[in-house]
Amino acid sequence: MLGNMMNEQLLISGVLEHAIKNNANTEIVSNTIEGGIHRYTIKDSAKRSKKLANALLNLNIKEGDIIATMAVNSYRHLELYFGISGLGAVLHTLNPRLFPDDIKYIVNHAEDKYIFVDAPFLPIIENVISDLKTVKGIVVLTDKEHMPSSSIKNLICYEDFIDDESEEIVWPEFDENTASSLCYTSGTTGNPKGVLYSHRSTVLHAWYATAGNAMNLTSETVLLPVVPMFHVNAWGIPYASFMYGAKMVFPGPFTDGESICNLITSEKVNQLMGVPTVWLDLLNYTEKNNIKLESVNSVLVGGSAAPKAMIKAFQEKHDCFLLHGWGMTEMSPLGTLNSYTPEMDSMDLEERYEIQTSQGRAVYGCSMKIVNDEGEVLPNEGKTFGRLMVKGPAIIERYFKSNETALEDGWFDTGDVATIDTHGYMRIVDRSKDVIKSGGEWISSIDLENTAVGHPGVAEACVVGVAHAKWDERPLLFIVKNGLEECDKDSVLDYLSDKVAKWWLPDDVIFLDELPHGATGKLLKTGLREDYKKHLMK
Ligand code: ADP
Repeated sequence: MLGNMMNEQLLISGVLEHAIKNNANTEIVSNTIEGGIHRYTIKDSAKRSKKLANALLNLNIKEGDIIATMAVNSYRHLELYFGISGLGAVLHTLNPRLFPDDIKYIVNHAEDKYIFVDAPFLPIIENVISDLKTVKGIVVLTDKEHMPSSSIKNLICYEDFIDDESEEIVWPEFDENTASSLCYTSGTTGNPKGVLYSHRSTVLHAWYATAGNAMNLTSETVLLPVVPMFHVNAWGIPYASFMYGAKMVFPGPFTDGESICNLITSEKVNQLMGVPTVWLDLLNYTEKNNIKLESVNSVLVGGSAAPKAMIKAFQEKHDCFLLHGWGMTEMSPLGTLNSYTPEMDSMDLEERYEIQTSQGRAVYGCSMKIVNDEGEVLPNEGKTFGRLMVKGPAIIERYFKSNETALEDGWFDTGDVATIDTHGYMRIVDRSKDVIKSGGEWISSIDLENTAVGHPGVAEACVVGVAHAKWDERPLLFIVKNGLEECDKDSVLDYLSDKVAKWWLPDDVIFLDELPHGATGKLLKTGLREDYKKHLMK
């Protein structure tokens, strides 16, 4: 027997209309490329999204047309999120840090019709424009006064583009499974692959990922998303903020420790969201300048493992809870969160920190299991590790333009190796391609890195497995110093010696000025692995 309830479609335009009626006066603050702070409300933003949508209709944009953006976190980018998807067109966020060849591949593969670009990224587009086969025009996200000179003819100025348009629109209605946005994975192996989100998956994800026991967004939240809007829809935060009336504070192009710190202080930000590297910079800045982040209650850290030293620093220096999360582009992205629990009240801090280093428990909307190479389900007792498989309504079924399912028996293989304990806590052991196989036993590169950054002289650490005559593979540790304390090979090995198993100790420690990061800010291990592959064979 079927239920008798409405089959109301979950559309992004519905989120916008809800926000106009219920959260109209919520502020949106942006640090701007042109200089200074821009400030307006959800109501103002919605009006401009509608003007944009009308302007796109004048360009003959139709349902299913793909429109690219290459932009920082700012109010204009937000207008594109709602204006493009609201029409049934597809918002394709491009990552400006990608290599030119990847950008060409992605734009041509997606068949983007227009690109909306922030002025500082225009040279990236100029460099590849002659190879872009489907792009009809470039819109620069600025006003007339700040239009850059360019080798591209007929550049469109965003403010002129939307200026004369109506603030009214009747949004089209369509099936909630219609595509809403597109994001390509970084493609460390082979070409980048597109993940095509739907209105349904986007709305459901924003809803569950930000619920009470998850990211916990409310009208009292003042959040600063450093997680880029050009990657996985900024973890769904723009949609969720409109659902719940949470104030957003956008850093614009300024994500260094000092700029972020200033913005936190002036806007009284209480929630931060971003990848660990950004917070390392912020923590270094506050430490050097003896600043306490008074207003911040929680920092959501995801994208890479949150080291214990970071969890501890936020708690003990800033009285702020580190909410550790895990996910991936294919999952919209959130899968697990390590939320505060009543049991933590009675724990001593060290015990709690240990729990917080795990990636947490599945949010409602994501089911998880671990399996061995034969696909057999492994026990959830916190010790056995296996391939982490997921399923849920905001998890990919197939890649964009692929005819093959990306699933194994209905589950998606995350490419991560993990344990799950009896309480549901999942712990990433490694990426399946990064785990170090030493004499048939596995060493977690992530565990070693997280332990090494606890050394007071270490800013960042990276571990890769390299060939070894006797053990097949052994760990090599790369360190970037922070300049705060003495740090040499002996002191690092000495520091690790009572914290990891003896046979896990790296065979060598190499000091670098910086570590290579990929387009989404993650450590890029492929280059180091290649450059040092014979290091232990000499
Ligand atoms: P995103 O950049 O949104 O994190 P990607 O698809 O680029 O998404 O990368 C996803 C991968 O990043 C995961 O499969 C996992 O290996 C890694 N990752 C994400 N969050 C964490 C975390 N908290 N701890 C360890 N690894 C993480």
